[in-house]
Amino acid sequence: MRVAIYNSDTQESKRLKRMIIQGLAKEGIPYDEEQPDLVISIGGDGTLLSAFNHYEDRLDEIRFVGMHTGHLGFYTDWRTFEVFDLIESLKTDSGQSVAYPLLNVEAKFSDGTRQNFVALNESTIRDMVKTMVCDVYINAELFERFRGDGLCISTPTGSTAYNKSVGGAIMDPKIVGFQLGEMASLNNRVFRTLGSPIIFGKDAVLTLRLADDSTAVLSCDRTQIMLGEVRHLTELTYSVAEQQIRFAKYRHTNFWRRVKASFIGGEA
Ligand code: NAP
Ligand code: MN
Repeated sequence: MRVAIYNSDTQESKRLKRMIIQGLAKEGIPYDEEQPDLVISIGGDGTLLSAFNHYEDRLDEIRFVGMHTGHLGFYTDWRTFEVFDLIESLKTDSGQSVAYPLLNVEAKFSDGTRQNFVALNESTIRDMVKTMVCDVYINAELFERFRGDGLCISTPTGSTAYNKSVGGAIMDPKIVGFQLGEMASLNNRVFRTLGSPIIFGKDAVLTLRLADDSTAVLSCDRTQIMLGEVRHLTELTYSVAEQQIRFAKYRHTNFWRRVKASFIGGEA
């Protein structure tokens, strides 16, 4: 098993990285940032999002482990004082893993180009200046015309992130699907949207067609998709991705206890 570490830029993360690298060397576990089988992320959930993005092309080969330097995260359940327990777990690793669904995003642009993205948390489409107008298609059938600030399309594990802030439901990560949430939709006697979040199942296809003069901006997790002066978004298609993210499962962290610890209070 080859291990890589992906860390945030803090002194604490760098110190832990050095400690783990020493521990790995002592146990004869190879360290390899190019072709790892296991990626240890040290930092916050944001760091794990970046680690995911960095190793996105090797998702089938990689399992992740998250160590948090700050508060408990949703992707990070190892605490910094557990470094040696983690190395013990690596020594007895038998390939055990837990997999979660991801979101596939296909973007079409006005210049005829296309780009494909995979999101671990969510993809948002927003307009900061004018009202975003788009037609929402569910399985190729027109569902509604959305007017408002934007839309947030999240994965089950991303449901506790941005999705939650826009009034979406927390999804059990065992559900294979994705969620659509509205951001400040315009609703009056003339304009109408559903006004509540929708959770889609595994085969659903959600398509957004944007107005010709759209100035909407697309994000995928931590990344903003660059558009340029002339290129604008025309169509977005969302579905459950073929790939999944896998975490090395050395112990069980109860999801609902984590939700409680993060948002209500108490120990995880
Ligand atoms: P950030 O501003 O540090 O992230 C905002 C918060 O979301 C942080 O506390 C982060 O935890 C937490 N978070 C990330 N993924 C989560 C998840 N799956 N479940 C629960 N909480 C989660 O920015 P960042 O660290 O680069 O993270 C990017 C994410 O921030 C985006 O994917 C989006 O979900 C979220 N975001 C939220 C809002 C909002 O709620 N209005 C706006 C923009 C972005 P850590 O401190 O551990 O990193
Ligand atoms: Mn963060």
